[in-house]
Amino acid sequence: MGEFAHHISGESLTMKMFHAIAALVGTALLAPVAMAGAPPPSKLDTTKVGDGLYVIHNALVPGNVTVMVTNDGVLLVDDKFEFDLDNLLAEVRKLTSQPVKYVINTHYHGDHTGANARLQAMGVQVVASSNARAKMVEAKQPGWPSITVENRGTVHLGGKRAEIYYFGRSHTDGDVVVYFPDQKVIAMGDMFTFGDDVPQLVDYSGGGSARAWPTTLDGALMLDFNAVVPGHGPNATKADLRKFRDSTVLIQTRVKQLLAEKKGRADIDAMLRKEFHWGDLHSGRGLDGLIAEMQ
Ligand SMILES: [Zn+2]
Repeated sequence: MGEFAHHISGESLTMKMFHAIAALVGTALLAPVAMAGAPPPSKLDTTKVGDGLYVIHNALVPGNVTVMVTNDGVLLVDDKFEFDLDNLLAEVRKLTSQPVKYVINTHYHGDHTGANARLQAMGVQVVASSNARAKMVEAKQPGWPSITVENRGTVHLGGKRAEIYYFGRSHTDGDVVVYFPDQKVIAMGDMFTFGDDVPQLVDYSGGGSARAWPTTLDGALMLDFNAVVPGHGPNATKADLRKFRDSTVLIQTRVKQLLAEKKGRADIDAMLRKEFHWGDLHSGRGLDGLIAEMQ
């Protein structure tokens, strides 16, 4: 959790930062709040997940960025907040002198698309699902993708491939996964968040669906991969992803049980916080929609 952990009981501050930042995600409030004193840019670190394939993590919230390096340029999956871009590009420059040519946004939230506009000004092409682009347009977010995919697409760059798949609703209605067949690695976006600090977030206002989520993950699980890059959290394995998939079924089972016992909204909320580590953000975005879907 970085330096903060040494000063104030690490997890609670991390969660506070998480909620503070995550509350901004997907809203037009991001820019004004950032100017009024948002958290400083995150400290980044880079790990290798395959041949010419890297993940730029940060200790706090903004999402993981996957980097595909080729002799003909660089492709990124997601681009964090705008205020992280300078550090992000500095990490990329440690790997290669090649320029960034493509960014694939896994979904529309600001912590995955925040640097789009600045990257576009540098000549970078931004790719997303058509649903994600529609959300960005609707929310008047900067940096709309110029290339959209429906169910499947591939970016070919420098003899390497990044395959894009849309398997259905989950975190939002526009989440794609990016599959690197040569390295057997998959970048999941927020369809898979790894760790108790970053529980499943069903963003119903973004078209998300807890009911559809397991089936959507099943689509991804049919691909042949070993390493998994979650939207938030450390690098994971296919077994970790399967475990998460099972938890997306269990959460539905538990809510249905409580509804069958005639338990109310507050009891269901308490259960989700206790058993699935939900916080205010998850509850605010997901509780009513989840109950409605499970009835
Ligand atoms: Zn998200």
